[in-house]
Amino acid sequence: MRYSMFSLIAQAMKGHSGWPPVWRDAAPKPSYDVLIIGGGGHGLATAYYLASRYSINNVAVIEKGYIGSGNVGRNTTIIRSNYLLPGNTHFYELSMKLWEGLEQDLNYNAMVSQRGVLNLYHSDAQRDSFARRGNAMRLAGVDAELIGLEQVRAMLPFLDYKTSRFPIQGGLLQKRGGTVRHDAVAWGYARAADSRGVDIVQNCEVTGIAIADGSITGVETTRGPIKAKKVALAVAGNSSRLAAMAGMRLPIESHILQAFVSEGLKPLIDCVLTFGAGHLYISQSDKGGLVFGGDIDGYNSYAQRGNLPVIEDVMEAAMGLWPALARVRLLRHWGGIMDMSMDGSPIIDHTPVQGLYLNAGWCYGGFKATPASGFCFAHLIAKDEAHPVAAAYRLDRFSAGRLIDEKGVGAQPNLH
Ligand SMILES: Cc1cc2nc3c(=O)[nH]c(=O)nc-3n(C[C@H](O)[C@H](O)[C@H](O)COP(=O)(O)OP(=O)(O)OC[C@H]3O[C@@H](n4cnc5c(N)ncnc54)[C@H](O)[C@@H]3O)c2cc1C
Repeated sequence: MRYSMFSLIAQAMKGHSGWPPVWRDAAPKPSYDVLIIGGGGHGLATAYYLASRYSINNVAVIEKGYIGSGNVGRNTTIIRSNYLLPGNTHFYELSMKLWEGLEQDLNYNAMVSQRGVLNLYHSDAQRDSFARRGNAMRLAGVDAELIGLEQVRAMLPFLDYKTSRFPIQGGLLQKRGGTVRHDAVAWGYARAADSRGVDIVQNCEVTGIAIADGSITGVETTRGPIKAKKVALAVAGNSSRLAAMAGMRLPIESHILQAFVSEGLKPLIDCVLTFGAGHLYISQSDKGGLVFGGDIDGYNSYAQRGNLPVIEDVMEAAMGLWPALARVRLLRHWGGIMDMSMDGSPIIDHTPVQGLYLNAGWCYGGFKATPASGFCFAHLIAKDEAHPVAAAYRLDRFSAGRLIDEKGVGAQPNLH
Protein backbone atom coordinates (compact mmCIF):
# COMPACT_ATOMS: atom_id res chain seq x y z
CA MET A 1 0.00 0.00 0.00
CA ARG A 2 1.27 3.46 -0.90
CA TYR A 3 1.07 5.92 2.00
CA SER A 4 -0.64 9.18 1.03
CA MET A 5 -3.26 11.62 2.25
CA PHE A 6 -5.85 9.59 0.35
CA SER A 7 -4.87 6.28 1.98
CA LEU A 8 -4.96 8.01 5.38
CA ILE A 9 -8.46 9.37 4.76
CA ALA A 10 -9.66 6.01 3.40
CA GLN A 11 -8.31 4.19 6.46
CA ALA A 12 -9.79 6.80 8.81
CA MET A 13 -13.23 6.12 7.30
CA LYS A 14 -12.75 2.43 8.23
CA GLY A 15 -11.59 3.15 11.77
CA HIS A 16 -7.98 2.38 10.80
CA SER A 17 -8.77 -1.33 10.71
CA GLY A 18 -7.38 -2.00 7.24
CA TRP A 19 -3.68 -1.11 7.47
CA PRO A 20 -1.63 -4.10 6.25
CA PRO A 21 1.55 -5.15 8.13
CA VAL A 22 4.43 -2.83 7.26
CA TRP A 23 6.55 -5.82 6.16
CA ARG A 24 6.05 -9.59 5.95
CA ASP A 25 7.53 -11.73 8.73
CA ALA A 26 9.31 -13.99 6.23
CA ALA A 27 10.52 -17.55 6.91
CA PRO A 28 13.98 -18.29 5.50
CA LYS A 29 14.09 -19.95 2.05
CA PRO A 30 16.76 -22.62 1.33
CA SER A 31 18.84 -20.28 -0.84
CA TYR A 32 19.28 -16.67 -1.97
CA ASP A 33 21.39 -14.71 -4.44
CA VAL A 34 22.44 -12.32 -1.67
CA LEU A 35 22.15 -12.87 2.05
CA ILE A 36 22.70 -9.86 4.31
CA ILE A 37 23.51 -10.59 7.95
CA GLY A 38 22.20 -7.87 10.29
CA GLY A 39 18.82 -6.12 10.17
CA GLY A 40 20.11 -2.75 11.32
CA GLY A 41 19.99 0.42 9.26
CA HIS A 42 22.95 -0.56 7.08
CA GLY A 43 21.75 -4.09 6.30
CA LEU A 44 18.21 -2.97 5.49
CA ALA A 45 19.41 -0.02 3.38
CA THR A 46 21.72 -2.35 1.46
CA ALA A 47 18.82 -4.71 0.73
CA TYR A 48 16.65 -1.80 -0.40
CA TYR A 49 19.26 -0.37 -2.78
CA LEU A 50 20.12 -3.85 -4.15
CA ALA A 51 16.45 -4.33 -5.04
CA SER A 52 15.60 -0.80 -6.13
CA ARG A 53 18.79 0.28 -7.93
CA TYR A 54 20.27 -3.03 -9.13
CA SER A 55 17.13 -5.19 -9.55
CA ILE A 56 18.62 -7.89 -7.31
CA ASN A 57 15.53 -9.06 -5.45
CA ASN A 58 16.32 -12.61 -4.37
CA VAL A 59 17.75 -11.20 -1.15
CA ALA A 60 17.27 -11.96 2.55
CA VAL A 61 18.16 -9.87 5.58
CA ILE A 62 18.84 -12.17 8.54
CA GLU A 63 18.40 -10.56 11.95
CA LYS A 64 19.04 -12.32 15.25
CA GLY A 65 16.57 -10.14 17.17
CA TYR A 66 13.91 -7.84 15.79
CA ILE A 67 14.34 -5.03 13.28
CA GLY A 68 15.64 -1.94 15.07
CA SER A 69 16.87 -3.77 18.19
CA GLY A 70 20.49 -2.84 17.47
CA ASN A 71 22.21 0.52 17.20
CA VAL A 72 19.82 1.83 14.55
CA GLY A 73 17.16 2.05 17.25
CA ARG A 74 19.54 3.16 20.02
CA ASN A 75 21.39 6.17 18.65
CA THR A 76 20.99 9.89 19.31
CA THR A 77 19.68 10.40 15.74
CA ILE A 78 22.21 13.02 14.60
CA ILE A 79 22.99 13.42 10.90
CA ARG A 80 25.69 15.69 9.46
CA SER A 81 28.32 15.77 6.72
CA ASN A 82 30.92 18.02 8.38
CA TYR A 83 34.02 15.95 7.59
CA LEU A 84 37.54 17.19 6.84
CA LEU A 85 39.36 14.36 5.06
CA PRO A 86 38.91 13.63 1.34
CA GLY A 87 38.14 9.93 1.97
CA ASN A 88 35.17 10.95 4.10
CA THR A 89 33.78 14.26 2.80
CA HIS A 90 32.11 13.05 -0.40
CA PHE A 91 30.79 9.86 1.18
CA TYR A 92 29.02 11.69 4.02
CA GLU A 93 27.74 14.37 1.65
CA LEU A 94 26.20 11.64 -0.54
CA SER A 95 24.53 10.37 2.62
CA MET A 96 23.18 13.84 3.41
CA LYS A 97 21.77 14.14 -0.11
CA LEU A 98 20.12 10.72 0.22
CA TRP A 99 18.61 11.79 3.59
CA GLU A 100 17.20 14.86 1.88
CA GLY A 101 15.24 12.71 -0.58
CA LEU A 102 14.70 9.67 1.65
CA GLU A 103 11.08 10.13 2.64
CA GLN A 104 9.95 10.54 -0.98
CA ASP A 105 12.16 7.64 -2.08
CA LEU A 106 10.82 5.27 0.60
CA ASN A 107 7.29 6.73 0.79
CA TYR A 108 7.77 6.77 4.57
CA ASN A 109 7.87 9.55 7.15
CA ALA A 110 11.29 9.27 8.79
CA MET A 111 10.96 12.74 10.40
CA VAL A 112 14.08 14.10 8.68
CA SER A 113 14.68 17.41 10.47
CA GLN A 114 17.46 19.65 9.12
CA ARG A 115 17.58 21.80 12.23
CA GLY A 116 21.35 22.50 12.07
CA VAL A 117 24.37 21.07 13.87
CA LEU A 118 26.50 23.56 15.82
CA ASN A 119 29.98 22.56 17.08
CA LEU A 120 31.14 25.05 19.73
CA TYR A 121 34.77 26.19 19.91
CA HIS A 122 36.39 27.45 23.09
CA SER A 123 39.92 28.56 22.10
CA ASP A 124 41.74 30.29 19.24
CA ALA A 125 43.41 27.01 18.26
CA GLN A 126 40.08 25.22 18.14
CA ARG A 127 38.58 28.04 16.07
CA ASP A 128 41.44 27.66 13.57
CA SER A 129 40.93 23.91 13.25
CA PHE A 130 37.17 24.40 12.82
CA ALA A 131 37.84 27.07 10.17
CA ARG A 132 40.05 24.56 8.35
CA ARG A 133 37.33 21.92 8.48
CA GLY A 134 34.68 24.43 7.35
CA ASN A 135 36.86 25.51 4.42
CA ALA A 136 37.46 21.88 3.38
CA MET A 137 33.72 21.29 3.49
CA ARG A 138 32.95 24.36 1.38
CA LEU A 139 35.60 23.39 -1.17
CA ALA A 140 33.83 20.03 -1.48
CA GLY A 141 30.46 21.73 -1.97
CA VAL A 142 29.20 21.07 1.58
CA ASP A 143 27.55 23.90 3.56
CA ALA A 144 29.47 25.31 6.55
CA GLU A 145 29.46 28.60 8.46
CA LEU A 146 31.92 29.74 11.11
CA ILE A 147 29.97 31.92 13.53
CA GLY A 148 31.12 34.13 16.40
CA LEU A 149 30.07 34.48 20.02
CA GLU A 150 27.19 36.90 19.46
CA GLN A 151 25.57 34.65 16.86
CA VAL A 152 25.87 31.65 19.21
CA ARG A 153 24.39 33.69 22.06
CA ALA A 154 21.45 34.72 19.86
CA MET A 155 20.78 31.07 18.98
CA LEU A 156 21.31 29.60 22.45
CA PRO A 157 20.81 32.31 25.08
CA PHE A 158 20.59 29.86 28.00
CA LEU A 159 24.20 28.58 27.85
CA ASP A 160 26.74 29.73 30.44
CA TYR A 161 28.63 32.64 28.87
CA LYS A 162 29.86 34.19 32.16
CA THR A 163 31.38 31.66 34.53
CA SER A 164 32.09 28.70 32.25
CA ARG A 165 35.49 27.06 32.79
CA PHE A 166 35.85 26.84 28.99
CA PRO A 167 34.40 30.11 27.66
CA ILE A 168 32.42 29.76 24.42
CA GLN A 169 34.02 31.72 21.57
CA GLY A 170 31.83 30.67 18.63
CA GLY A 171 30.90 27.64 16.57
CA LEU A 172 31.00 25.83 13.24
CA LEU A 173 27.45 25.50 11.95
CA GLN A 174 26.16 23.06 9.34
CA LYS A 175 22.58 24.14 8.74
CA ARG A 176 21.72 21.07 6.65
CA GLY A 177 22.67 18.75 9.53
CA GLY A 178 20.05 17.71 12.05
CA THR A 179 18.17 14.65 13.24
CA VAL A 180 16.12 11.77 11.80
CA ARG A 181 13.83 9.48 13.77
CA HIS A 182 16.12 6.47 14.08
CA ASP A 183 13.71 3.51 14.26
CA ALA A 184 11.59 4.98 11.46
CA VAL A 185 14.68 4.64 9.27
CA ALA A 186 14.79 0.90 9.99
CA TRP A 187 11.04 0.53 9.45
CA GLY A 188 11.06 2.64 6.26
CA TYR A 189 13.91 0.70 4.65
CA ALA A 190 12.37 -2.62 5.80
CA ARG A 191 9.01 -1.76 4.27
CA ALA A 192 10.51 -0.52 1.00
CA ALA A 193 12.81 -3.56 0.67
CA ASP A 194 10.01 -5.99 1.54
CA SER A 195 7.73 -4.46 -1.08
CA ARG A 196 10.45 -5.24 -3.67
CA GLY A 197 10.58 -8.91 -2.67
CA VAL A 198 13.32 -8.92 -0.05
CA ASP A 199 12.76 -11.44 2.79
CA ILE A 200 13.27 -9.92 6.23
CA VAL A 201 13.87 -12.83 8.57
CA GLN A 202 13.73 -11.88 12.26
CA ASN A 203 14.69 -13.98 15.29
CA CYS A 204 17.23 -15.90 13.24
CA GLU A 205 20.83 -15.81 14.46
CA VAL A 206 23.72 -16.63 12.16
CA THR A 207 25.91 -19.13 14.01
CA GLY A 208 28.37 -20.13 11.29
CA ILE A 209 29.62 -19.13 7.85
CA ALA A 210 29.96 -21.91 5.28
CA ILE A 211 33.04 -21.70 3.05
CA ALA A 212 34.29 -24.22 0.47
CA ASP A 213 37.58 -23.82 -1.42
CA GLY A 214 37.90 -20.20 -0.31
CA SER A 215 34.40 -19.24 -1.54
CA ILE A 216 31.23 -18.56 0.38
CA THR A 217 28.46 -21.14 0.10
CA GLY A 218 26.00 -19.95 2.76
CA VAL A 219 25.43 -19.66 6.49
CA GLU A 220 24.35 -21.75 9.47
CA THR A 221 21.53 -20.22 11.49
CA THR A 222 19.32 -21.03 14.47
CA ARG A 223 16.60 -21.74 11.89
CA GLY A 224 18.73 -24.05 9.77
CA PRO A 225 21.32 -23.69 6.99
CA ILE A 226 20.76 -21.19 4.17
CA LYS A 227 22.71 -21.25 0.90
CA ALA A 228 23.78 -18.01 -0.76
CA LYS A 229 25.93 -16.94 -3.72
CA LYS A 230 26.97 -13.80 -1.87
CA VAL A 231 26.95 -13.04 1.87
CA ALA A 232 27.24 -9.50 3.26
CA LEU A 233 28.15 -8.71 6.87
CA ALA A 234 26.43 -5.62 8.33
CA VAL A 235 26.36 -6.46 12.03
CA ALA A 236 27.95 -3.30 13.53
CA GLY A 237 29.13 -4.10 17.10
CA ASN A 238 29.20 -7.83 16.37
CA SER A 239 31.44 -7.53 13.29
CA SER A 240 34.46 -9.18 14.97
CA ARG A 241 32.36 -12.16 16.07
CA LEU A 242 30.91 -12.76 12.61
CA ALA A 243 34.26 -12.21 10.89
CA ALA A 244 35.82 -14.77 13.26
CA MET A 245 33.30 -17.33 11.95
CA ALA A 246 34.93 -16.79 8.53
CA GLY A 247 38.44 -17.07 10.00
CA MET A 248 39.14 -13.33 9.92
CA ARG A 249 40.48 -10.99 12.62
CA LEU A 250 39.31 -7.41 12.08
CA PRO A 251 41.03 -4.13 13.08
CA ILE A 252 37.97 -3.39 15.23
CA GLU A 253 37.20 -3.28 18.97
CA SER A 254 33.67 -3.35 20.38
CA HIS A 255 32.82 -0.71 23.00
CA ILE A 256 29.60 0.52 24.59
CA LEU A 257 28.12 3.93 23.85
CA GLN A 258 25.28 5.23 25.99
CA ALA A 259 22.47 7.67 25.22
CA PHE A 260 20.35 9.66 27.69
CA VAL A 261 16.89 11.22 27.58
CA SER A 262 15.47 13.73 30.07
CA GLU A 263 11.87 14.25 31.07
CA GLY A 264 9.79 16.15 28.49
CA LEU A 265 10.35 19.91 28.46
CA LYS A 266 8.90 22.80 26.48
CA PRO A 267 10.92 23.68 23.34
CA LEU A 268 14.35 24.84 24.50
CA ILE A 269 16.91 24.03 21.86
CA ASP A 270 16.17 23.99 18.14
CA CYS A 271 19.49 22.67 16.83
CA VAL A 272 21.98 19.89 17.61
CA LEU A 273 24.71 21.28 19.87
CA THR A 274 28.14 19.85 20.63
CA PHE A 275 30.45 21.00 23.42
CA GLY A 276 34.01 21.57 22.20
CA ALA A 277 35.80 21.24 25.53
CA GLY A 278 34.59 17.76 26.37
CA HIS A 279 32.50 15.10 24.71
CA LEU A 280 28.82 16.04 24.79
CA TYR A 281 26.14 16.40 22.12
CA ILE A 282 22.60 17.44 22.84
CA SER A 283 19.33 18.02 21.00
CA GLN A 284 15.63 17.98 21.84
CA SER A 285 13.22 15.34 20.57
CA ASP A 286 9.80 16.20 19.19
CA LYS A 287 8.31 14.79 22.43
CA GLY A 288 10.35 17.37 24.40
CA GLY A 289 13.02 15.14 25.96
CA LEU A 290 16.60 16.36 25.82
CA VAL A 291 18.58 13.66 24.02
CA PHE A 292 22.28 13.56 24.76
CA GLY A 293 25.40 11.45 24.75
CA GLY A 294 29.15 11.61 25.14
CA ASP A 295 32.12 9.26 25.25
CA ILE A 296 32.09 5.49 24.97
CA ASP A 297 32.56 3.42 28.12
CA GLY A 298 36.26 2.79 28.59
CA TYR A 299 36.42 -0.98 28.15
CA ASN A 300 35.64 -3.59 25.50
CA SER A 301 32.24 -5.26 25.75
CA TYR A 302 29.44 -6.96 23.82
CA ALA A 303 26.81 -5.98 26.44
CA GLN A 304 24.01 -3.65 25.31
CA ARG A 305 24.22 -1.56 28.48
CA GLY A 306 26.67 0.91 29.96
CA ASN A 307 28.13 1.85 33.32
CA LEU A 308 27.96 4.72 35.83
CA PRO A 309 31.31 6.56 35.30
CA VAL A 310 30.31 7.69 31.79
CA ILE A 311 26.92 8.85 33.06
CA GLU A 312 28.70 11.09 35.57
CA ASP A 313 31.16 12.31 32.94
CA VAL A 314 28.42 13.23 30.45
CA MET A 315 26.29 14.97 33.10
CA GLU A 316 29.32 17.00 34.23
CA ALA A 317 29.94 18.18 30.68
CA ALA A 318 26.26 19.09 30.28
CA MET A 319 26.29 21.06 33.55
CA GLY A 320 29.50 22.83 32.56
CA LEU A 321 27.87 24.09 29.38
CA TRP A 322 24.31 24.59 30.54
CA PRO A 323 24.05 24.87 34.37
CA ALA A 324 20.23 25.13 34.40
CA LEU A 325 20.15 21.42 33.47
CA ALA A 326 20.82 20.68 37.15
CA ARG A 327 17.07 20.87 37.74
CA VAL A 328 16.14 18.52 34.87
CA ARG A 329 15.49 14.86 35.68
CA LEU A 330 17.07 12.11 33.61
CA LEU A 331 14.31 9.78 32.46
CA ARG A 332 16.16 6.86 30.89
CA HIS A 333 19.40 5.73 29.32
CA TRP A 334 20.64 2.73 27.36
CA GLY A 335 23.69 1.45 25.52
CA GLY A 336 24.64 0.04 22.13
CA ILE A 337 27.68 -1.92 20.91
CA MET A 338 29.95 0.18 18.71
CA ASP A 339 32.33 -1.29 16.12
CA MET A 340 35.30 1.03 16.77
CA SER A 341 37.90 0.81 13.99
CA MET A 342 41.58 1.63 14.49
CA ASP A 343 41.40 4.91 12.52
CA GLY A 344 37.79 5.86 13.28
CA SER A 345 36.63 5.32 9.68
CA PRO A 346 34.52 2.50 8.25
CA ILE A 347 35.21 -0.47 6.00
CA ILE A 348 33.08 -1.24 2.90
CA ASP A 349 35.00 -3.88 1.01
CA HIS A 350 35.51 -7.41 -0.26
CA THR A 351 37.11 -9.89 2.13
CA PRO A 352 39.72 -12.59 1.40
CA VAL A 353 36.78 -15.06 1.15
CA GLN A 354 35.30 -14.99 -2.36
CA GLY A 355 31.68 -13.79 -2.19
CA LEU A 356 31.89 -12.49 1.40
CA TYR A 357 31.57 -8.71 1.76
CA LEU A 358 32.20 -6.52 4.80
CA ASN A 359 30.45 -3.38 6.03
CA ALA A 360 31.82 -2.43 9.48
CA GLY A 361 33.83 -0.01 11.61
CA TRP A 362 31.15 2.69 11.94
CA CYS A 363 32.27 3.71 15.42
CA TYR A 364 29.63 6.00 16.86
CA GLY A 365 28.88 7.87 13.64
CA GLY A 366 27.21 5.21 11.56
CA PHE A 367 23.61 6.36 11.75
CA LYS A 368 24.20 9.43 9.57
CA ALA A 369 25.99 7.14 7.11
CA THR A 370 23.08 4.70 6.77
CA PRO A 371 21.80 5.73 3.30
CA ALA A 372 25.25 6.10 1.68
CA SER A 373 26.52 2.96 3.37
CA GLY A 374 23.61 0.92 2.00
CA PHE A 375 23.93 2.57 -1.39
CA CYS A 376 27.69 1.95 -1.71
CA PHE A 377 27.55 -1.55 -0.21
CA ALA A 378 24.82 -2.51 -2.68
CA HIS A 379 27.01 -1.13 -5.49
CA LEU A 380 29.97 -3.21 -4.30
CA ILE A 381 27.89 -6.40 -4.00
CA ALA A 382 26.14 -5.93 -7.36
CA LYS A 383 29.11 -4.80 -9.45
CA ASP A 384 32.02 -6.27 -7.50
CA GLU A 385 33.75 -2.90 -7.53
CA ALA A 386 33.84 -0.06 -4.99
CA HIS A 387 31.55 2.91 -5.41
CA PRO A 388 33.79 5.96 -6.10
CA VAL A 389 32.81 7.82 -2.89
CA ALA A 390 33.55 4.75 -0.74
CA ALA A 391 36.73 3.72 -2.54
CA ALA A 392 38.94 4.67 0.42
CA TYR A 393 37.11 2.39 2.87
CA ARG A 394 39.29 -0.62 2.12
CA LEU A 395 40.14 -3.36 4.57
CA ASP A 396 43.80 -3.41 3.51
CA ARG A 397 44.35 0.27 4.37
CA PHE A 398 45.34 -0.76 7.90
CA SER A 399 48.21 -2.92 6.67
CA ALA A 400 49.10 -0.54 3.83
CA GLY A 401 49.18 2.55 6.11
CA ARG A 402 46.52 4.53 4.18
CA LEU A 403 44.57 5.41 7.31
CA ILE A 404 41.65 7.86 7.32
CA ASP A 405 42.18 9.31 10.78
CA GLU A 406 39.58 12.11 10.88
CA LYS A 407 40.32 12.96 14.51
CA GLY A 408 44.10 12.58 14.25
CA VAL A 409 44.44 10.48 17.41
CA GLY A 410 46.19 7.45 15.95
CA ALA A 411 45.44 3.75 16.42
CA GLN A 412 43.31 4.26 19.55
CA PRO A 413 39.81 2.97 18.76
CA ASN A 414 38.45 4.19 22.10
CA LEU A 415 39.44 7.79 21.26
CA HIS A 416 37.82 8.13 17.81
C1 LIG B 1 23.93 5.42 22.08
C2 LIG B 1 24.31 5.59 20.65
C3 LIG B 1 24.26 6.84 20.07
C4 LIG B 1 24.62 7.01 18.73
N1 LIG B 1 24.44 8.23 18.16
C5 LIG B 1 24.68 8.40 16.84
C6 LIG B 1 24.37 9.64 16.20
O1 LIG B 1 23.83 10.56 16.82
N2 LIG B 1 24.67 9.76 14.89
C7 LIG B 1 25.27 8.77 14.18
O2 LIG B 1 25.56 8.97 13.01
N3 LIG B 1 25.52 7.55 14.74
C8 LIG B 1 25.23 7.35 16.04
N4 LIG B 1 25.44 6.13 16.63
C9 LIG B 1 26.05 5.05 15.83
C10 LIG B 1 25.06 4.32 14.96
O3 LIG B 1 23.88 4.03 15.66
C11 LIG B 1 25.71 3.03 14.43
O4 LIG B 1 26.98 3.31 13.89
C12 LIG B 1 24.87 2.39 13.32
O5 LIG B 1 23.51 2.32 13.69
C13 LIG B 1 25.42 0.98 13.04
O6 LIG B 1 24.83 0.39 11.93
P1 LIG B 1 23.47 -0.49 11.96
O7 LIG B 1 22.33 0.44 12.07
O8 LIG B 1 23.45 -1.35 10.80
O9 LIG B 1 23.69 -1.32 13.29
P2 LIG B 1 22.68 -2.23 14.14
O10 LIG B 1 21.33 -1.59 14.24
O11 LIG B 1 23.37 -2.54 15.42
O12 LIG B 1 22.54 -3.51 13.21
C14 LIG B 1 23.32 -4.66 13.32
C15 LIG B 1 22.38 -5.81 13.50
O13 LIG B 1 23.08 -7.04 13.38
C16 LIG B 1 22.41 -7.99 14.19
N5 LIG B 1 23.28 -9.14 14.43
C17 LIG B 1 24.42 -9.18 15.15
N6 LIG B 1 24.91 -10.42 15.16
C18 LIG B 1 24.07 -11.19 14.42
C19 LIG B 1 24.05 -12.55 14.06
N7 LIG B 1 24.99 -13.43 14.48
N8 LIG B 1 23.03 -13.00 13.26
C20 LIG B 1 22.06 -12.16 12.83
N9 LIG B 1 22.04 -10.85 13.16
C21 LIG B 1 23.04 -10.36 13.93
C22 LIG B 1 22.11 -7.19 15.46
O14 LIG B 1 21.09 -7.78 16.23
C23 LIG B 1 21.73 -5.82 14.89
O15 LIG B 1 20.32 -5.67 14.77
C24 LIG B 1 25.07 5.91 17.97
C25 LIG B 1 25.10 4.65 18.55
C26 LIG B 1 24.70 4.47 19.88
C27 LIG B 1 24.70 3.10 20.49
